[in-house]
Amino acid sequence: MKSVALACMVVIGAAMAVASPAQADDYALDSLERSVPAKGKMQCPPVELVTWRGDAVRYHSPVRVYVGFRERLRKFEAVVKDVAIEVYGRAPSKIVHIGTLNCRRIRLWPTLLSEHGIGNGIDVAGFDFGAVPRKVGVPQGLPPALRKGFSVRVKAHWEGNAGAAAVHARFLHRLTETLLQRHDIFRVLLGPAYPGHKDHFHFDCAPWRLVSI
Ligand SMILES: [Zn+2]
Repeated sequence: MKSVALACMVVIGAAMAVASPAQADDYALDSLERSVPAKGKMQCPPVELVTWRGDAVRYHSPVRVYVGFRERLRKFEAVVKDVAIEVYGRAPSKIVHIGTLNCRRIRLWPTLLSEHGIGNGIDVAGFDFGAVPRKVGVPQGLPPALRKGFSVRVKAHWEGNAGAAAVHARFLHRLTETLLQRHDIFRVLLGPAYPGHKDHFHFDCAPWRLVSI
């Protein structure tokens, strides 16, 4: 565990050194100071926040995020929709999240502000799907049970290897692979491979890149 943390620290340190407001993928929060005291009271810097329900796919409950992060979420929702249509023949009815705005430190690095502290990240637990309307086709080979509504969860399905669970695993992996290729959406992408993330994906737009899915 110790060596994993150290390796990630190196990644973060190196990436922070090269991040600058002038990079191609410019983002207004890049120049914001993320250092905080390791202990005691801390304050999260004020940023413009908006409430967002989702566009291409809606969230199960509205999210509170930095206004610039909303544009990243719009692109994320479009990717979710496209990959879901490819795998299941329809978009999910809801993206199930377990939080966006939360003023706190990064657990593994207590001298750094969490991107959640400025509404610049989202934790995604899974996706809920409705039934396929009658007479609407689905991708060949889709298990018949998946014509009805169902839930996909990172915790239950990331390692699914048979039947419907295998289809869910394929969806989740295809989704994260697509997001990794899209450098215009998220910069930090964490999942079950990262400590504390067995049951959700963490996506944010910090000024560095860190990937551990
Ligand atoms: Zn998170």
